[in-house]
Amino acid sequence: MVKKLIVVVLVLGGSLSAQSPTRAKTSPPKSVRLYVFDCGMLTISTEGVTRYHVTPAEVVEPRMPVPCFLVAHPKGTLMWDVGVIPDEIVEKQASSGGARYDVNSTAAALVTRTLKGQLAEVGYTPGDITYVAISHAHKDHSANLNQFAASTWLTPPAEREFMWKPGNERVEPSFFNKLEKSKSISLEKDEYDVFGDGAVIIKAAPGHTPGHQVLVLRLASTGRVMLGGDLYHYPPERTLHRAPPDNEFNVQQSATSRSAIEAYLTKTKTPIWIQHDFKTIANLKKSPAYYD
Ligand SMILES: [Zn+2]
Repeated sequence: MVKKLIVVVLVLGGSLSAQSPTRAKTSPPKSVRLYVFDCGMLTISTEGVTRYHVTPAEVVEPRMPVPCFLVAHPKGTLMWDVGVIPDEIVEKQASSGGARYDVNSTAAALVTRTLKGQLAEVGYTPGDITYVAISHAHKDHSANLNQFAASTWLTPPAEREFMWKPGNERVEPSFFNKLEKSKSISLEKDEYDVFGDGAVIIKAAPGHTPGHQVLVLRLASTGRVMLGGDLYHYPPERTLHRAPPDNEFNVQQSATSRSAIEAYLTKTKTPIWIQHDFKTIANLKKSPAYYD
């Protein structure tokens, strides 16, 4: 009887706080959590597959998911990669089955859920997020950056320079123009320990873009995991040791980063999640469930 009463009080409390204009901030978790959000899907043409030096038969599933990730740490939060279509466009197109956007001539995006809606589901607003970082500034990783202009932006200086380079067709400045004056931390070393306890580390892996980076997490139950950005797009690039695509910002630098990251993964016994791999992402627990 006592237990039932407690449940009722908690449910009422939850609905009251959701309606309150002065929303109480979600209290930090006791240990690190990783939430996986659905930020869309890319349909890739045959030409789009073969640019990664793999064939449609080798990749089996050519579509590429676009996940976004929230790391909730006892000392703050980190958003990692922020989607392919800005939320305000997704909201406008919601009645027509989702928002569509051609990232380039080989990749067509469809987004049906907003990032801020998925954040709200687990108790956060973009304004609550302590840090924002992207693996790199290509259009399919940066669409909602402007929503995180109040967060501290963690970026290598080379990526910042790439983002504001005049005439750079690989980026969309309207996705991130509000970050120009945001508080930021310049990541100039191989590793940056976000919360100072070794649980959340950003590692440099340049080549795909000048400041491409990956995220390494140490979770209490799940163990270690690397979110690999676009170091690879399809698993056979890795297992069949194919050369990086010809349209990398720097092909040689990409190859060097791949070797260094592979050595690190082996040494630290860390699995890598290839962020655009259909099977990897399909099999992950999605928010509001989380990894801890
Ligand atoms: Zn990508």
